[in-house]
Amino acid sequence: MFANRKIVNIENEVLTAISVARKQQPLLNAMVSFTEVDEAIEHAKSSSGKMAGVPIVLKDNVLTKGVRTTGSVSILDNYIGAYDATITTKLKDAGAVIIGKSALDGLGMGGTGTNCHTGFVHNPYDVNRMAGGSSAGSAALVASGAVSFAIGSDTGDSVRKPASFVGIVGVKPTYGRISRYGIIPYASSLDHVGYFTRSVEDAALALEVLAGRDDRDMTSSFRIVEDYLANLNGNLSGKTIGVLGNVIDSIKNESTLKLFNDLVDKCKTAGATIKIVSMDPKRLQTCLPVYYIIANSEATANHSNLDGIRFGMQESGDTLEELMTNSRTKGFSFLLRKRFIIGSYSLADENQELLLRKAQKVRRLLVEDFKAALADVDVLIAPASGDVAPLLTDTSADQLSARYLIAENYMVLGNFSGYPSMTIPMGKINGLPMGINITAKPFEEQVMFDVAFGMENLTGCKNMTAEVTV
Ligand code: GLN
Repeated sequence: MFANRKIVNIENEVLTAISVARKQQPLLNAMVSFTEVDEAIEHAKSSSGKMAGVPIVLKDNVLTKGVRTTGSVSILDNYIGAYDATITTKLKDAGAVIIGKSALDGLGMGGTGTNCHTGFVHNPYDVNRMAGGSSAGSAALVASGAVSFAIGSDTGDSVRKPASFVGIVGVKPTYGRISRYGIIPYASSLDHVGYFTRSVEDAALALEVLAGRDDRDMTSSFRIVEDYLANLNGNLSGKTIGVLGNVIDSIKNESTLKLFNDLVDKCKTAGATIKIVSMDPKRLQTCLPVYYIIANSEATANHSNLDGIRFGMQESGDTLEELMTNSRTKGFSFLLRKRFIIGSYSLADENQELLLRKAQKVRRLLVEDFKAALADVDVLIAPASGDVAPLLTDTSADQLSARYLIAENYMVLGNFSGYPSMTIPMGKINGLPMGINITAKPFEEQVMFDVAFGMENLTGCKNMTAEVTV
């Protein structure tokens, strides 16, 4: 915890975090690089910022001036950040100490933590399992207790899904709430900066540090940043909580349903009104294909500059085209190349109307449905996943499949709509954590945090830390 706690011995706090992360590295493989901290420690000592002396980790798609920023792809392995992302500056100004950069599914594309150019990231609760992705390293390091805060990014569920798999808090605020300047993009209409903590109070305080208008990101909002921590109120009485019925219907695992239903009952006892809310099930099934088409089209356009000429690694070739092809073939994983092909196909003149434009229209309809589902409730909730973290050997996890279609993919509605959405732990199944997802109306982060805080009191799942063993 760093909310409501003054760190007295900053040097000790930071060096301990580094030593824990280093010790865990052979088991978790969560870090890409460690950063120099001496200057930051000195700065933190004289800082009165909200995160003074808090050791933190950044996902390696966040630019850090003079520090390696790989996006977890080989093509950027030797790339050094030319400037600080706005959130990097904000965190430094708040007195946080960046101890390193964490691994992700390359460029944020993936949901398993197995597509990082530095190898698999392991789940601290069971190293044979995934931490989830794409913000895999950040999630693992918060869950393992190495740090109490880490930055992630969320384009489909990349903060909220790993948070569920490793038993921590994962927040994706409203689109525009946090500046994305200096984040290596994935899909610009869906990308959000998000972050991990182990308590709702820390999550509330962190948004005060990160949020706010930034003229260098024209999608960032002018709305004032609220005092989320001071205003935090976990009283659930009077709150109307909507349960997304379609997700519950699509979950087969009895243990997940039991954990969820028990918590819903407790919320009722605590005074909340529970409403089952349903969306058009047919349309809901389009979440994954719509996401794939839009995200991969935008990613293809965003990353056409990674050509082996302007940035990073360069392979040889007899012609310019051959050089680019060789660099991109070697510089991206199979999964990324596959996604770029899907993106290029959807962007092709002859397919655009049928694929990309159509997907954008369906996205709009899904957002209208989602808005209607939220109209009469304060928040919408559902399990953040149908099941606990899959084994690392489960190769089906990142494939386009009909398996758990709704339960595993509905959280992308938070990206289609831009609505604030977060995951908190709701308990464990056979020793493995399981999360609940909470979504609120746009810019109602306070309502979202309040409900999360109330639920955290009911579950007792606060400051959960894994014991990392083989
Ligand atoms: N798992 C999704 C994907 O594979 C989401 C990724 C994300 O949110 N960055 O793309």
